[in-house]
This record gives sequence, C-alpha cells and structure tokens, in this order.
Amino acid sequence: MWTLVLNCGSSSVKVALLEPDTGAVAVTGLAERLGTAGAALRLDVSGERRVVDLGGGSYPAAFAALLAGLDELGLRAQVQAIGHRVVHGGEAFSVPATITPEVLDAIRACSALAPLHNPANVAGIEAAQQAFPALPQVAVFDTAFHQTMPEVAYRYAVPEAWYRQHGVRRYGFHGTSHAWVAQEAARMLGRPLTELNLVTAHLGNGCSVCAVQGGRSVDTSMGLTPLEGLVMGTRSGDVDPGLHDFIARQAGLSLDQVTAALNRESGLLGLSGLASDVRELEAAAGRGHAGARLALDVFVYRLAQAVAGMAVALGQVDALVFTGGIGENSVTVRAATLARLGVLGAGVDDDANARAVRGTPGVISAPGRLTTLVVNTDEERMIARETARALEAGA
Ligand code: ADP
Repeated sequence: MWTLVLNCGSSSVKVALLEPDTGAVAVTGLAERLGTAGAALRLDVSGERRVVDLGGGSYPAAFAALLAGLDELGLRAQVQAIGHRVVHGGEAFSVPATITPEVLDAIRACSALAPLHNPANVAGIEAAQQAFPALPQVAVFDTAFHQTMPEVAYRYAVPEAWYRQHGVRRYGFHGTSHAWVAQEAARMLGRPLTELNLVTAHLGNGCSVCAVQGGRSVDTSMGLTPLEGLVMGTRSGDVDPGLHDFIARQAGLSLDQVTAALNRESGLLGLSGLASDVRELEAAAGRGHAGARLALDVFVYRLAQAVAGMAVALGQVDALVFTGGIGENSVTVRAATLARLGVLGAGVDDDANARAVRGTPGVISAPGRLTTLVVNTDEERMIARETARALEAGA
C-alpha cells in the first residue's frame, strides 16, 4: 500500500511516499522554516530535487505545494493512505490508531506531556485532512511500543498522586525505531523475534536503549520526556533531580531556562564545549581536543551502563543492536562501548566493525562473544507498515 508518511514539527514537515512491503520510495521531501519568509518545500524524486517557495506560508501552503508536486509527478493517484508520526500517545495508545475526531481529541489531551510536539502533530493532521479528504489517516506513536513495559519499569518513586492525577510515569520514545530494528535483527539472525531477548540502542541526535523481549518493549531509557537516560547530542540525559533547584539558585536561572539548557546546551555539546555532532567530536579528539575526548568517553560510559541496565530487564541477552546515525556509522563509539561491556561477554570483531558503515549492516561481534549487530533504522517504512496494519485491522 503506497503510503504518504508525514512527520509534522512546529516549523517543518518531513515527507516520504513509499511502499512498505517492497521498501520502494517514490518521493522524499522536507518543508522547512514554515511561517517565516524562507518557507520552502523540497521534493527529491529519483535523484532530482525540486524546490518550491511557500511565500512565508505554513502547513496549508506546504500541503498545497505537496499536492501540486505529487500531481505534476503523476503520483497523486498512487497515494492510498497517510501515516503520521505522533510523538506522545500517553497511556491512551498502545497501537497505531486510524484518525477520527475522538482520536484527535485524545492526541490533544496528551499535549501537556509533549508541549512542543503534539500540538504540531495535531496541526499537521488537520492540514493533511483538508488537503487529502478522501484518504484514510493513521497516527503512529513514538510511545506506543513501550506501553508493554511492566509497572516496575515505568513507575517513578514519587508521590502516587502525581502518577494518578498527572500521568507522571516513564513512557519511552523512539518506539518505531526500536520496533523496526528488533524485527530486522531477528531477520538477519534467522531467528523468530518471539524467541529473542534484544537490547536495541538508537543513537542519533536523540539517544535511547530498549530491552525487547519476544518483540515487546520491557524497558527503555527515556521516561516522562525524551530528556531521561543517555547522554545525547544536546540533551543531558540523567542528572540528579536536585540539580534543577541547585543551579537555578546558584546561577539565577528560571525553571524554563534550566530545562532549555538541559535540552539544548548539554549532552555532547555541553561536555565538549565544541559540538553535538559525533563526526566533529571524533575528528577533534583525534587532534587532541580534551573536551571532545571527554564528551565521547562519557557518552560511551553511560551508554554501556544503560545497556547493562537493560540486561536486568531481560535476564539474559541474545544480541545487542546498534542503530541511528551514530550507531550505524561510528566504528569507535561501537568498539569503545563493547570494550566496556565485558560483563555481558561482549567483544568486537575489528574488521567487521570497520565494514559496518554508511548503510552496510551486519554482525560486528567476535565469534563466541555477545552477538552484536548494526542495523539500519527506517522509521518511515515502519510508520507506513504500521499504517497499513492499522487500516487492515480496522483499528
Ligand atoms: P536524528 O536523530 O536527527 O535522525 P541521525 O540518526 O541522523 O539524527 O544521527 C545524527 C548523529 O549521527 C550525529 O551525531 C552525527 O554526528 C552522527 N553520524 C552520522 N554519520 C556519522 C559518521 N559517519 N560517523 C560518526 N557519526 C556519524
């Protein structure tokens, strides 16, 4: 089923038209800087790029240009369904949902949990409904895959009323990526997913690990928000909850300023004082930049600790999976992480590790050691697949 996959942010829309069974991709695109003078839509079709100026417009202009572009390419009639990435489904959604007025209301109701993302997702869905009124639309949630976590994994040790009245619990994110790479890993290992205990490490600008037991998430490192857990590009990951009050008083910052700094000025960027990009940090560390070295070392140390933590959720680990821009490409981050995971029997095959870059997945562990794989994530294809499944199931 040819599916238009849309990822609507506050000022951007990522677009892909693809067929999930074959993996065929007809168009990819990005509408950026929506609502500003530079608003533009670019569509990439078989190596050719078209750019449309949106005249300062927002979602309606972006969708009108997308429709016109699909018409020109003769692809509009091909689109059978629309799949939306939605960040937060709270406890309301454990599977994708065909969008109805009730489902839209439930997504709106989760906005307090994802104030930057869910309102943008809703606005994108409404604009897409106007642009494509005849097509079924499905919401695929970042959090849904983790709704199988047991209570022991998702509850925080805070007053129970915070959970009951305000939904304060761990939700987890990157669900489509963890679910996709778990399936791919099982396929590559030639074993049924239902029999595997996997730790998946999604390492992009945002980073999280997940314990996947028989294809179901049983724990993950992100929590109430995508700030918990691992060190990320610009996000701190775990800090002492007492830090907020301490630094607010010491540095004279508001709660909003502390939260913004933990999201945008921390992580690899904060530690290195240089960059959030692992390529840049690896190059700088190679030239002897102490901050870059430290940032990578802390990233790896905390990642290895988190992987070991997921092993507790699983009892026993059959394989470790690396994915995301860093996981799929950084030979040194993978090698250093495996070197720290002797406790799990990990050990790298240096040649295989060096080969697994730029879209070449494969097993990178030494014989007899914890099976470790590099798998390419494909969130768009997973969203398209989930969209088809939801429509078939009448969900
Ligand atoms: P997003 O989470 O925004 O989708 P990606 O999955 O593309 O991001 O991951 C971005 C990260 O991947 C950046 O830290 C970038 O440095 C890293 N990365 C991409 N290519 C390489 C590479 N060849 N070597 C090391 N790191 C890489």
